[in-house]
Amino acid sequence: MSNHRTIAHFDLDAFFVSVECIHNPALKGLPLIVGGTRQRGVVAACSYEARKYGVHSAMPMATALRLCPQATVVKGAREEYSKYSRRVTEIIADQAPRFEKASIDEFYLDLSGMEKYFNPMQWTMQLRSQIMEKTGLPISFGLATSKLVAKIATNLAKPNGYLRVEPGREKEFLAPLKVNAIPGVGKQTHQLLLSLGIQTIGDISHRKAEDMEFLMGKQGAELWYKSQGIHHEEVIQFSETKSLSTETTFDTDSDQLDFIISELTRMTEALAYDLRGDNKTAGCIAIKIRYADFETQTRQMAIPYTCYEDDLIPAMKALLSKAYQKNKPVRLLGVRLSELTSGYLQTSLFEQTPKKTALYQAVDSLKKKFGIDSITRARNLQSGH
Ligand SMILES: [Mg+2]
Repeated sequence: MSNHRTIAHFDLDAFFVSVECIHNPALKGLPLIVGGTRQRGVVAACSYEARKYGVHSAMPMATALRLCPQATVVKGAREEYSKYSRRVTEIIADQAPRFEKASIDEFYLDLSGMEKYFNPMQWTMQLRSQIMEKTGLPISFGLATSKLVAKIATNLAKPNGYLRVEPGREKEFLAPLKVNAIPGVGKQTHQLLLSLGIQTIGDISHRKAEDMEFLMGKQGAELWYKSQGIHHEEVIQFSETKSLSTETTFDTDSDQLDFIISELTRMTEALAYDLRGDNKTAGCIAIKIRYADFETQTRQMAIPYTCYEDDLIPAMKALLSKAYQKNKPVRLLGVRLSELTSGYLQTSLFEQTPKKTALYQAVDSLKKKFGIDSITRARNLQSGH
């Protein structure tokens, strides 16, 4: 038996753009930008044709249009992206022994031990073909012995490709790549590394771990391990039923709709705050109402992946209007968010203006500073099956 792990990393190519092109094939091959309003929005995604002009996601729309004035801008349909993301998730969930949904368009599969029965490369190629046939979306993958190396391989294989890094050849594979090919090495770290004369991953792996730690502290040591292709992070199984929820039982039963709405709103806000704190988005919201006679109603609905109360509160209200029985005293209310997926940033790119995202961040940091006991008290992270 082999003693290494086998990890596949799947990433949909220019996901939002690909979905737009399915709906409107005339957009194929054009420099296309998906994002908020023309003037003040940011780029949520862009086609490879637009990338050639230096456009990238999270860039202010004004800058993007200066670089590529001929680009077509579409507002984007988050409901559609969530729908396609779910379809891909279902296909993977059907086949993969263990998988993590790392964001709306990114998955890690743990295929360790599979080589006893199948050729993991062939198996992964077949899965990729299935995803492309069933959804029409281009997707790339990397196959390696760790999440880190698999992801780097995917990035190299993109667009519309795949790459395998053979066990034992990780260091050799990484050595010629630029240091910012390591996920998480941002502009600042990159600058710092360049100032230390480090350009490629090989420049790190040829040094001693202690030297890197001396130069850059803990981060330096971590980079050294990564440069060797050593990375032990586990694939965390995705579960639709894993949820974030809160409940409140009242001292006195209430039949006041205003009060019920304000309580559910407060609870939804608290959960949204927790969601952002966990760097997660939710794809499903449920409410629970228990009446004084203990009759209990729960209602749930699928929603576009979000971490904002601006999206969650209208959904909560829609559920309430379906479930609520007038004039019946209520003793307990609950809100639950599920289908939790990483990728808070990606969702925030859809805000109409960066201002709103900034506002959320400001409010959250105030909440963090001063605390809201209702959140910590009511918080209940549970996992079901
Ligand atoms: Mg992608």
